[in-house]
Amino acid sequence: MPGICVITEQRGGEVKRASLEALAEALRKKSTVGGDVTAVVLGHEIGEAAAALAASGADQVVAFDRADLALYSSEGHCACAAQAVRDAGASVVFVAATIQGRDLAAAISGGAALDAGYAADCTAIDTDGGDLVATRPVFAGKAIIKVRCTAETFVLSLRPNIFDATLPGGSASVTTATPPFDEGSLRARVTGIAASTKGRKDVAEADIVVSGGRGAGSPEGFAPIEALAEALDAAVGASRAVVDLGWRPHAEQVGQTGKVVSPKLYVAAGISGAIQHLAGMRTSKVIVAINKDPAAPIFKVADYGIVGDLHEVLPALKDALLALA
Ligand SMILES: Cc1cc2nc3c(=O)[nH]c(=O)nc-3n(C[C@H](O)[C@H](O)[C@H](O)COP(=O)(O)OP(=O)(O)OC[C@H]3O[C@@H](n4cnc5c(N)ncnc54)[C@H](O)[C@@H]3O)c2cc1C
Repeated sequence: MPGICVITEQRGGEVKRASLEALAEALRKKSTVGGDVTAVVLGHEIGEAAAALAASGADQVVAFDRADLALYSSEGHCACAAQAVRDAGASVVFVAATIQGRDLAAAISGGAALDAGYAADCTAIDTDGGDLVATRPVFAGKAIIKVRCTAETFVLSLRPNIFDATLPGGSASVTTATPPFDEGSLRARVTGIAASTKGRKDVAEADIVVSGGRGAGSPEGFAPIEALAEALDAAVGASRAVVDLGWRPHAEQVGQTGKVVSPKLYVAAGISGAIQHLAGMRTSKVIVAINKDPAAPIFKVADYGIVGDLHEVLPALKDALLALA
C-alpha cells in the first residue's frame, strides 16, 4: 500500500522547521506516491506539537507520547517510527536530516527495522514516471548523484533549509499510539542534554550564519564576527581549524565533520574554503566571502567576494547595515 510517513522532530512541544519542510515536501509528492501523508511525532507531553501537525495539511497524525520518549534514543524512537510506518502501510518515509534525523533515518532503514532503501541528505526530490528521484551531494559535495527510489519501502532524509515549508493547512485526526516496548525497557537511556552554546542560535537552523576561520587571528579576533552576527540576528559559525585550536566550541563547526548548513546568507570571514568546509555550506543560498588572499578557494563558491582584512571589512559592513536599519 502506498503512502508517505513523515517522522517529525519536536523540541519542547514545538515542531522543528526542518520537519515542517519535510512534511510540506511530502504533501507535494503525495499525488506521485499515492495514499495518505501521515505525520508521526514522538516525545512526552507533545499535545501542542500533535495539534500543530493536525492543522498542517497531513491526512493523519500519529503521536507516541510517553515519559521514556522525552529525550531521543535511537532504539526507542526507531522502534516507534518503524511501527508507525508499518501501521500506515507507507512505502516512503521522510525525515529531516538534522543530527537526530540522520541517526533515526539510518536506523529505521536498517534490516532490523524496515529493511528499506535509503537516500541520505537529499537536496531535491523529483518525480519521473511515478518514481521519486532524489538528488544528494556525495564526496563532500564534489559530486551530485540521483537516486531512483524503487525499493518497496524507501527512507529519504531531507537537508534542512532547502525545501519550501509552505503547508496548505487542514484538520487531521490525532491517533495516540502505544510504543512497541515496555516502559523503562530501553537498553540505553539519555538522561539529559546540556546546551553547549547557551542562548546562541544554532548554525544548522539559522537563516543567516556568519562564520570565522583562522584568519580571525585569535579567539579575541572573533569580536567583529560576533558583532556582525548580532547585527544580522545570525548564528556564529566556525571552521574546524579554529575549533581544533580551542577558539570556538565544536557546536559552531561547519563542514564535513561539523554541521551541514543551508542558510539564506552565509558569510565566511577568514576561511580559506577547504573542501571539507565547503561540504557543510556550499548549498547556502547566498555566500559572501571576506579574505585577504584573492586566490583563496572560498571565492570560487562565493556569490560576493571582498578581498581585504576581516578586521576592517566586518566593522564597516556592520556599520553600513545598521545605517540602513
Ligand atoms: C577528515 C577531515 C575533516 C575535516 N572537516 C572539516 C570541517 O568539518 N570543517 C572545516 O572547516 N574544516 C574541516 N577540515 C579541515 C580543513 O581541511 C581545513 O584545514 C580548514 O577548513 C581550514 O580552516 P580555515 O579556513 O579557518 O583556516 P586556513 O586554511 O588557515 O585559512 C585561513 C584563511 O584566512 C585568510 N586570512 C588570514 N588573515 C586574514 C584576515 N585578517 N582577514 C581576512 N582573511 C584572512 C587566509 O588568506 C586564509 O585563506 C577537515 C579536514 C579533514 C582532513
